[in-house]
Amino acid sequence: MKMDNIIEIKNLVYEYTEEDETFVAVKNVNLDIKKGSFTVILGHNGSGKSTLAKLMNGLNKPSSGKVLVDGIDTADEEKELEVKRRVGLVFQNPDNQLIASVVEEDVAFGPENLGLEPKIIRQRVDDALKAVGMYEFRKSTPHRLSGGQKQRIAIAGIIAMEPECLVLDEPTAMLDPKGRAEIIETLKRLNSEKGITVVLITHFMEEAESADRVIVMNDGEIIDDGTPKEIFKKVEKLKQVGLDVPQTTELLYELQKNGFDISTDVISIEDTALKISAVLNSEE
Ligand code: ADP
Ligand code: MG
Repeated sequence: MKMDNIIEIKNLVYEYTEEDETFVAVKNVNLDIKKGSFTVILGHNGSGKSTLAKLMNGLNKPSSGKVLVDGIDTADEEKELEVKRRVGLVFQNPDNQLIASVVEEDVAFGPENLGLEPKIIRQRVDDALKAVGMYEFRKSTPHRLSGGQKQRIAIAGIIAMEPECLVLDEPTAMLDPKGRAEIIETLKRLNSEKGITVVLITHFMEEAESADRVIVMNDGEIIDDGTPKEIFKKVEKLKQVGLDVPQTTELLYELQKNGFDISTDVISIEDTALKISAVLNSEE
């Protein structure tokens, strides 16, 4: 185990049985997640993303191969809490993750389960709510909040356990654009200011644009791994596995197909505009 990896996955296979037949949801995955990094995992439905997410914090156990969290083997039943304390999972539907009728009580559940002292719990709840920008809603009722706010409360509940790594399984899938933006902004802040490692599973391509690293899954395997620019410029490859590219990349790709001498290796609107102007100017 390298010191700077929070998760190390080696030859990981996950099988499940249905009506006496065995299926493989994760096939020989090898992956290291660096401490403090921001990784996005993309893949169409059924590619094994959720299964992999649950393998990362021991909720799923490997059929073969290994998952090490901070050097701890997730297959070791005795270390279950130590693994869960380091890697927190956030799911798609915030309504299924909130239980209490008051926001701050909800956020307190995790630290209470860790058996911490009340004074420390209080501090952690306040810090976590501030970290997701929801401190002023601490006395509110969760079901009165918007989807994005509820999901931020769910994230606060995990943060309050002070994990080193957050794994989020399509946390923005049920949110409107405003809620999605709130979550992404929150995750970026937690990553840059608190150094929390983020593994974000999403099917919104724009959410991958500012990641350090993008991993593409298909049929239980990792089929690509690189920076957002490296990944998105392979437009054809992504389309083949049922994924879209950001609209900016799509535009450059269509221009290229129409005979313009232009590459698809930028993502931001500004860079895309610059690229197009450069081509237009050179045509004059
Ligand atoms: P994704 O999150 O990328 O959509 P999943 O990890 O949820 O993919 O699932 C991958 C495949 O494995 C799907 O076809 C899913 O139905 C199947 N699968 C995973 N675990 C089980 C299980 N315990 N029982 C039945 N099917 C499963
Ligand atoms: Mg899934």
